[in-house]
Amino acid sequence: MLEEALKHPIFKKIGKLADDLGLECYVIGGYVRDYLLNRTFKNDIDIVTLGNAIDLAESLSKELDGAPKVSVFKNFGTAMLKYDDLEIEFVGARKESYSSDSRKPYVTDGTLEDDQNRRDFTINAMAICLNSERYGVFVDPFGGQQHLDQKLLITPLEPELTFSDDPLRMLRAIRFAAQLNFEIDPKTLEAIRTQRKRLEIVSSERIVIELNKILLTEKPSVGLGLLEKTQLLELILPELSALKGIEEIEGMTHKDNFWHTLEVVDNLAAESDDLWLRWAALLHDIGKAPTKRFDEKSGFTFHGHEFVGSKMVYRLFKRLKLPLNESMKFVQKMVLMSSRPIVISEQFVTDSAVRRLIFDAGDHLDNLMLLCEADITTKNPNKQRRYKDNFKRVRAKVVEVEERDRIRNFQPPVDGDEIMRIFNLKPGKEIGILKEAIKEAILEGIIANDYHEAKSFMLGKAETMGLKPV
Ligand code: ATP
Ligand code: MG
Repeated sequence: MLEEALKHPIFKKIGKLADDLGLECYVIGGYVRDYLLNRTFKNDIDIVTLGNAIDLAESLSKELDGAPKVSVFKNFGTAMLKYDDLEIEFVGARKESYSSDSRKPYVTDGTLEDDQNRRDFTINAMAICLNSERYGVFVDPFGGQQHLDQKLLITPLEPELTFSDDPLRMLRAIRFAAQLNFEIDPKTLEAIRTQRKRLEIVSSERIVIELNKILLTEKPSVGLGLLEKTQLLELILPELSALKGIEEIEGMTHKDNFWHTLEVVDNLAAESDDLWLRWAALLHDIGKAPTKRFDEKSGFTFHGHEFVGSKMVYRLFKRLKLPLNESMKFVQKMVLMSSRPIVISEQFVTDSAVRRLIFDAGDHLDNLMLLCEADITTKNPNKQRRYKDNFKRVRAKVVEVEERDRIRNFQPPVDGDEIMRIFNLKPGKEIGILKEAIKEAILEGIIANDYHEAKSFMLGKAETMGLKPV
């Protein structure tokens, strides 16, 4: 019996209505799992009913204040409604048969057992009855509760079958393992490896949902490491698998950039929940595979990997159907600039280098600094300390320069309109040259970020170009 899981008054209500309609009904899946795991109260609730789930959703809506709208998905026989902070999904119990040539299952009405059979993991197949006669009866046919105690992810049926039927479940296994800190049962794990090619039939949109959830876990390296172990990684993110391995030529080596990347993502995750910054950490070194060269003097080099990497970001986002919007541009910018603060910190930190950094990074400077600090993965404690101290110096200098020069997102104090007016010019390349000269002079510290200084500097420069004020 698990009546105590059903404290929320909504469950009694649903049970009574199901009684009236003569339907058997259960709460199932994530709600039951998270209740038993003592995770915080879960407000998305899945209800499964033997019979018409849409009828049940509609009769519940009539009973609730404000009669919330029922969204019906006729083709699937499912319905959803939102009430307070709850999101309740109603599904008719079903039996699914798959054939290997189609990703769409053949669906028929089924028993509770049929429905539990088609669920992904034993811990997601547990149900609690809501009908008044059997209120709170716990139905756990595959030992899900025991697997929760053992922190194990196991499929209810043969794993090959479960994964081949809906290959997305392979990614869900890895995502749940990462979120819950569970192990994947060895047979289930092996089946992911053998069935991995089936992922082909899964849409990018569904893949990305799971990838994002993995990236948003506390320690993303757990899920990313499992993707590598099962070889799903090379199917989804070949740019990352290409970073694996250490090469040695004439006794010179380079670090394994894949495992380094996972450390960077973990470091970053400890400091920021921002999904796109986590993507940037994941992709910051992808340009290293195509740019790797060996030079007898300096060993392995990756010249221009930031630029190449930022171009690869676009292709990767497009392929995975990630949004090609500001978020992508942000990731590109982070990848492109990912070495800048490091280069600065290794030298004497000049004002002009810091001004350029502030100007180029704009609003994203703080994120860029977080990314670069996360990039410090050396195991040598002396180096570790030195690099961190270097960054402290850069940060202090940023504060100092910012206060003095107000460079972040600055617009040159003399703009194009004014230049056109002064010389009676039409839009043309002279204006661009003069604007660029003002910007450069400010960033180099030749003049201050100030209207009068900028104007007289610009007039001087214009004279050398043969321009006269009118
Ligand atoms: P969360 O919402 O916290 O991510 P959840 O277990 O509620 O976890 P949902 O995606 O909301 O996950 O799915 C609800 C339930 O539906 C699951 O618990 C599982 O029983 C079932 N389910 C979802 N997706 C699949 C799938 N691809 N194959 C089999 N069963 C699934
Ligand atoms: Mg859910």
